[in-house]
Amino acid sequence: MKKCMIIGCGGVASVAIHKCCQNSEVFEGIMIASRTKSKCDALKEKLQPTTKTVIETAQVNADNVDELIALIESYKPDVVLNLALPYQDLTIMDACLATKTHYVDTANYEPLDTAKFEYKWQWAYREKFEKAGITALLGSGFDPGVTGVFSAYAMKHEFDEINYIDILDCNGGDHGYPFATNFNPEINIREVSAKGSYIEDGKWVETEPMEIKRVYNFKGVGEKDMYLLHHEELESLALNIKGIKRIRFFMTFGQSYLTHLKCLENVGMTSIEPIMYEGKEIVPLQFLKAVLPDPASLGPRTVGKTNIGCIFRGKKDGKDKNYYLYNICDHQECYKEVGSQAISYTTGVPAMIGAMMIMNGTWKKAGVYNIEEFDPDPFMEALNKWGLPWEEDHDPVLVD
Ligand code: NDP
Repeated sequence: MKKCMIIGCGGVASVAIHKCCQNSEVFEGIMIASRTKSKCDALKEKLQPTTKTVIETAQVNADNVDELIALIESYKPDVVLNLALPYQDLTIMDACLATKTHYVDTANYEPLDTAKFEYKWQWAYREKFEKAGITALLGSGFDPGVTGVFSAYAMKHEFDEINYIDILDCNGGDHGYPFATNFNPEINIREVSAKGSYIEDGKWVETEPMEIKRVYNFKGVGEKDMYLLHHEELESLALNIKGIKRIRFFMTFGQSYLTHLKCLENVGMTSIEPIMYEGKEIVPLQFLKAVLPDPASLGPRTVGKTNIGCIFRGKKDGKDKNYYLYNICDHQECYKEVGSQAISYTTGVPAMIGAMMIMNGTWKKAGVYNIEEFDPDPFMEALNKWGLPWEEDHDPVLVD
């Protein structure tokens, strides 16, 4: 029996689990293992009557390597799909190494006490995974994830060299709250309040947070303000795609979101430095997370669409060429299908597909790899099949 252990049972995991259950031919068994077991049990109760996939559940503290090893040894999955938080990446990788089990995640490791995400910690496992004969597939969400698959596909089919990539992440959804985040608030706010950066001529160029703004007219959504952010796939794509001169990442934000964020920052609520409050140490950002709406509760209220993709500029047969690959996803359609909004959906679907690529042996190489290092074609086909069809434009409007 082919089995996958999914760690975490939040917004993204819930979508990935729905998708595994729609795909019982590959996912014959899944174990949902997370910190709060009642969430895993509730999902099992909802989905088991609808699927041939045999669902099991367990409680696990993914910060504890020994606990993880014991659980993996007892369930014996073919793949562990890590959909907990970036802080757990290394403990889960350690447990996969000890049990010789393949590993897939959607976000790179970030130490709890520094809001700095980069691949060096996970790339340091390359030799160990190679020696153990197992695969670690890093970043199998949308961005990172599909953006890397799009880049590998453009490189394989459209270009001899790609010189410029602009990744555009547009969320045209409206949840009706003045301020809420679409995925884990702590991770989201750490990401957007950090300095921006992009890679030019092999070097990182740093900007102030939200310093660089552009306006873009997104198909299916309309005109939106977007801001340059640091994003983890820039680091790996700059190395893995041939000919890169500059690579940038832009995300759209509405004015209300930015005004609230600025205010929260100004009063110290987004800080990750612990403070003493009534004799107890608390982290302001974690407290803020506790008072904000749970991203999972946004599903029924969110209307509108997302449009995420990459604009490539490069050369083919000696001539300059531009190419845009993107996906448009409708919040309400996602909610109807799996009970989640599009941000969780656009991450959970590629997470399932990444795990499937490893489980059915389509992608097979020992070591630690970013997603663009594999053949993109079967993944592109699976995106169309499993709910994230992509569109292409050979004459896109460029970002200056
Ligand atoms: P959530 O906060 O909704 O879910 C996280 C889940 O992990 C929760 O169920 C939580 O348990 C569980 N968890 C946290 N810590 C532990 C632990 N120590 N042991 C066991 N379980 C734990 O987050 P999301 O679903 O929004 O995000 C999941 C991941 O997806 C994150 O890493 C995020 O960065 C990534 N992501 C990637 C994207 C991409 O495009 N690549 C886009 C969006 C997100 P509990 O229920 O008890 O809180």
